[in-house]
Amino acid sequence: MIPIELEPSPSIPLHSLEALQSDALLPICKACGTQYPSTFSLKRDCVICEDPRQFVPSSGQEWTTLAEMGEGGRKHVMLKDEEDGRISMITCEPSFAINQTPTLIETAEGSYIWDCSAYISLPLIGHLSKLDKPLKAIAISHPHFFSTSLTWSRALKVPLYLCEDDKDWYQRLGDILPDDQVVWWKGEKEMGRGIKLMQCGGHFPGSSILYWDRLSEPPPPKDNLPTKPTPVSGIIFTADTIMVQPTQKSFSFIWSVPNMIPLRPQSVLSIQDRIKNLSFAQATSSWPNRWIKQDAKKALEESVTTFLAAEGWRIDEGELVKLIT
Ligand SMILES: [Zn+2]
Ligand SMILES: [Zn+2]
Repeated sequence: MIPIELEPSPSIPLHSLEALQSDALLPICKACGTQYPSTFSLKRDCVICEDPRQFVPSSGQEWTTLAEMGEGGRKHVMLKDEEDGRISMITCEPSFAINQTPTLIETAEGSYIWDCSAYISLPLIGHLSKLDKPLKAIAISHPHFFSTSLTWSRALKVPLYLCEDDKDWYQRLGDILPDDQVVWWKGEKEMGRGIKLMQCGGHFPGSSILYWDRLSEPPPPKDNLPTKPTPVSGIIFTADTIMVQPTQKSFSFIWSVPNMIPLRPQSVLSIQDRIKNLSFAQATSSWPNRWIKQDAKKALEESVTTFLAAEGWRIDEGELVKLIT
């Protein structure tokens, strides 16, 4: 991926400055990056980390704020895909919490941010406010990426798509105002042409993926073409609903990543069933270096078989059958 440093922006919209200022001192869990309302008692542990899908560090619960995170030179670096310049990962140096890495997807009709991370900076807001294809929405895969998403949505003045089935996990639910553009959705949601959210469940009931049908796009502009041909196949952005393994050739299905607890076989089958009609050849999770560049759909089928076999199951005509040995 091609790193792009962000320059300080000469003009930041007033609503962005107001959003940052009003949320600057809200508590943020240092282990998972979740932002809490001002009413949350810091004597207790983070709700997301107390859940077995995350963890409160053995050294104890620690809190920070957006104001504190901005001290000491933390910065954003965009990592642009060398094959498709319309996809960039928004990384943060030094990394924070579980290194959540949102993805910027610049489609012909507008741009989208998939997933969120805790830190948001003025250079990033400046960059995202002057995209060729203006930002249309932010969508989040599941509660481990809720982080400071309400601040992002307000600062960038775009709708925030959250799956209804994970509503109880949204810690700033009580802070959502009538003016906020929070869209609660379920099942399947088209955000724009060729851009669709799919609820898959499993890791969390509302765990979802984003599907971009690149075949529905006009060809990218010539000056955007990298050295390799730009892929035109569909791509799924999976977060950890369907985790791309470090080999970047296969997937895993995890209920709790840090505590190494696998998903139930039935959930794996239902994820596979949910996306069986999508046409895609690439898949990427919401971290750098988790990107299957070809034959991702075939890899998914093979990974389901391998995973289920390791848990003692095989599939026979869509049903789970227990392996004898
Ligand atoms: Zn936490
Ligand atoms: Zn997760």
